[in-house]
Amino acid sequence: CVQDCFPQLDIGDALDLIGKPSLMAQSLSEPSNHAGDSQSTARQELVDILSGHTVLASYPANEADSGYAPWSLRYSGHQFGQWAGQLGDGRAISILEVTNPSSPSGLYELQLKGAGRTPFSRSADGLAVVRSSIREYLCAEAMHALGVPTTRSLALTLLPTLPVMRERIEKAAIVTRVAPSFLRVGSFQALNPPEQMFFFGGGQQAADLEALRILGEYVSKHVLRLDLPEGAPWGKALLMECAKRNSIMVAGWQAYGFMHGVINTDNVSIMGLTIDYGPYAFMDVYDSGHICNHSDDSGRYSFKLQPTMILYALRALLSSLAPVIGSEMSTNAAVQVGWTKDVPPETTAEWTKSGLSIQEDMESFVMNTFMDEYVRLMRRRLGLLTEKETDFRELITPMLALFEQREVDYSSAMRRLAWFDPEMMDSDRTTDLQAFLSTLETTSQCAKPGGDNTNSNPWADWFGKYALRINEEKAQWTESAGKSVSWLEKRKESMLESNPRFILRQWLLEDVIAKVEKDHESGRRVLAKVLEMALNPFKAWGAEELDEKDILDAETREERRF
Ligand code: AMP
Ligand code: MG
Ligand code: MG
Repeated sequence: CVQDCFPQLDIGDALDLIGKPSLMAQSLSEPSNHAGDSQSTARQELVDILSGHTVLASYPANEADSGYAPWSLRYSGHQFGQWAGQLGDGRAISILEVTNPSSPSGLYELQLKGAGRTPFSRSADGLAVVRSSIREYLCAEAMHALGVPTTRSLALTLLPTLPVMRERIEKAAIVTRVAPSFLRVGSFQALNPPEQMFFFGGGQQAADLEALRILGEYVSKHVLRLDLPEGAPWGKALLMECAKRNSIMVAGWQAYGFMHGVINTDNVSIMGLTIDYGPYAFMDVYDSGHICNHSDDSGRYSFKLQPTMILYALRALLSSLAPVIGSEMSTNAAVQVGWTKDVPPETTAEWTKSGLSIQEDMESFVMNTFMDEYVRLMRRRLGLLTEKETDFRELITPMLALFEQREVDYSSAMRRLAWFDPEMMDSDRTTDLQAFLSTLETTSQCAKPGGDNTNSNPWADWFGKYALRINEEKAQWTESAGKSVSWLEKRKESMLESNPRFILRQWLLEDVIAKVEKDHESGRRVLAKVLEMALNPFKAWGAEELDEKDILDAETREERRF
């Protein structure tokens, strides 16, 4: 019942991924009308594989080779802070692993989400609906284009004749996604669950420490590719690498105003990839406490708590790895009690300290890594070349407080900063400053800045500080600009490359979903256009780009800003 499939990677890449030489290169952007020719056969083969219609399997070539068939991996997790036992993966089926040098793990895993039941589906159907599939398909690519680590989308397959029972009957779809690894914190938790008297009436779940060791060694060596000597302890190193990657990822979320919505431990990737796009949203009007998940009553996964929730998941990983790390620590303890003679006492003391305070070590490491990356990204967005220790406290924090107070649109306001000229703070340029500020507040839900006196303006103080900071960097910008453009122009260009014009907003997603659900043919064009925009977020897209492709209804155009 495959209606159509939108493979999105370049065909060359897709072929590399699939590794099937019989598939011939051709454009996949439009379906082929030449039924029966070799190109359309090739396309159909690719569609069949990406949609799960054709199952790739290999049979053992010799005794050492076990061959492979599609597989699913079970995992457990804490959902909203409660231990939920084994809950996944009931609707993801991996179809292939291919080696590829561009992958940090050296390989890519291709996975179908929503292709039907797996051994872990429990009473659920293993399917996904068009709506959630379009949301995941587009957002993974949007995040990638913003430079935030994420799983990727390879194809979207619509299954219009397959009804799915949700609150109403919906149509099915499959997202074919790709990642260097889909392992999560919950994959480790499944092998060494926290001690609980009961969970869902199922009693205690047994630990399998041998399986934990095998998974940990595999992840250290083949997924995170830790540079450790053969046989060296890997527990703490694995934890810290996972902590580093996730800190960098969540810094990207905070810098671009992305809200995940369900940071349960099973949705936190070992590789620090944004994974499982559910009720996510990008920030519109800046609100640090925004909650994008309607079922998150307490705001556990609100915007400002995201880094904390990543930390929570990393603590859960530490708990699951505790037996391994404990045995690493006991080696240190052995040194301490003098079983090993040749180690100097300072080293022993250091080992003991780090062994005993591993949670604190990890937490301060996460805080530091997160802050470094977050401030780095925000400096780039603010068009700052140099690092000043006071930037976070004196520039970034007060700016966000102002955005919140003035209720301005986060992404639009950030991009508009590119047009700020520090000379606007001069007393003879008040009209220019007023004009600039009113464009900044165009998207504000508050009143426009009033009066003709800049001092009564809520923005004046902040822009005063920003102007000083910009002026300090004038020499560097002048040098990098060369002779052809002014330093301010050069700075603006650079800012426009770090502040997206295109944001995958909720209302746009709603529009795309409605169009695809209503009419496949026109929906397909809309989807392709929005994907193109999501993949090129820094381009100076105009509203007319959407008009041109009938992407926005007339009434939507009136109501919404782009
Ligand atoms: P999520 O809350 O979206 O991260 O989902 C958690 C887990 O619930 C997934 O890993 C799946 O195993 C399972 N799940 C969600 N929806 C379905 C479904 N329709 N069929 C089977 N399993 C599902
Ligand atoms: Mg999930
Ligand atoms: Mg999900």
